[in-house]
Amino acid sequence: MTAPYVSLASRYEVQVPPPADGSTRARAGLLTLTHGAVETPQFMPVGTNATVKALSPDDLREVGASIILSNTYHLYLRPGHERIERLGGLHRFMDWDRPILTDSGGFQVVSLGDLRVVDEDGVTFRSHLDGSVHRFTPELAMGVQAALGSDVAVAFDQPVYPSSPREVVADATARTHRWAERSLAARSRPDQAVFGIIQGGLDPELRAGSTSFIAGLPFDGLCIGGLAGDESPAERDAALDVAVPLLDDDPRPRYLMGLGSPADLLEAVHRGVDLFDSVLPARVARNGQLWVPGGRLNLRNRAFLDDPEPVQEGCPCLLCRRFSRAYLAHLFRAKELLAYRLATCHNLTFTLDFMARIRASIRASTFPADLPRLRARAGRVSRGEATEQSA
Ligand SMILES: [Zn+2]
Repeated sequence: MTAPYVSLASRYEVQVPPPADGSTRARAGLLTLTHGAVETPQFMPVGTNATVKALSPDDLREVGASIILSNTYHLYLRPGHERIERLGGLHRFMDWDRPILTDSGGFQVVSLGDLRVVDEDGVTFRSHLDGSVHRFTPELAMGVQAALGSDVAVAFDQPVYPSSPREVVADATARTHRWAERSLAARSRPDQAVFGIIQGGLDPELRAGSTSFIAGLPFDGLCIGGLAGDESPAERDAALDVAVPLLDDDPRPRYLMGLGSPADLLEAVHRGVDLFDSVLPARVARNGQLWVPGGRLNLRNRAFLDDPEPVQEGCPCLLCRRFSRAYLAHLFRAKELLAYRLATCHNLTFTLDFMARIRASIRASTFPADLPRLRARAGRVSRGEATEQSA
């Protein structure tokens, strides 16, 4: 069994390693960060603008969030990381006292910024808010995250779409490696863990090379980037089956960025991933799509206007404890703000409860046998919905 990984800023212990028979790479562990401990496998709700849309910190605790993700790019542009630092840091600013992971901003710079120009030193882009010109470098991304004071900072990378031509992926992956070293050199807070990002797209050779390179650096955790984009589930599984076996003896947590549908989370856990984030459960909730065991309900459908049942019988969330499908359907049709809060509470409760069921199954050493039951509970989300990325 691998010894726990321990650094000044974090500790990760694989408490239930994968079984020796090779039936699954799923494992259960405990990640301890400056603001608390996180059981893995775990899902991180996304608080883009220092808030998970429509929820208060009390709501977040009630849905079972033990760690959230916030976006470096958005907070740098508005309200500004220096302002947040003056106001006591991100935890104090948003009144969230549990762990926070900040992404590096690499994905948003590439996907949201206009007129972006990538050179060896960094990326120049125009703000999607007001058109002003900005420049991100590995050093700046690390400085912004240090000012925010997140528990986990992520190295600045250059993501590309999985379907990009091989030479584009190879070029971005090599640059990501050089930026990973610069990000580590720019690390300034002993209380902040730093995760590195593996790239390499769908090409097995590039993915393997990136895995070995990033795992060879003294990061506290390893992000598997460049997936949850436009690839098929089979292509994603194949990329994971290249990367994860190379990390079999690596004691650090593995984080697949941007994946959010219950079915996708389950398959990635099965392939050895420990951490996830996505806006998906909250985004589809605001569109009226409520996740329930084995499927989903579209609360914009007229049929629910006379339905006195809760969205999900037995669900402990704020919505299901107190309100009917009819009431929520009415709120959506009237565009009442409470609809977004209640629906988000439910979908995040469903997602985090699903992860808890996965952890319990791994801890009981019954995960391979439980897979059919867990797959049935996860239901199916269409590919287009499942690959909507963090924005
Ligand atoms: Zn509920």
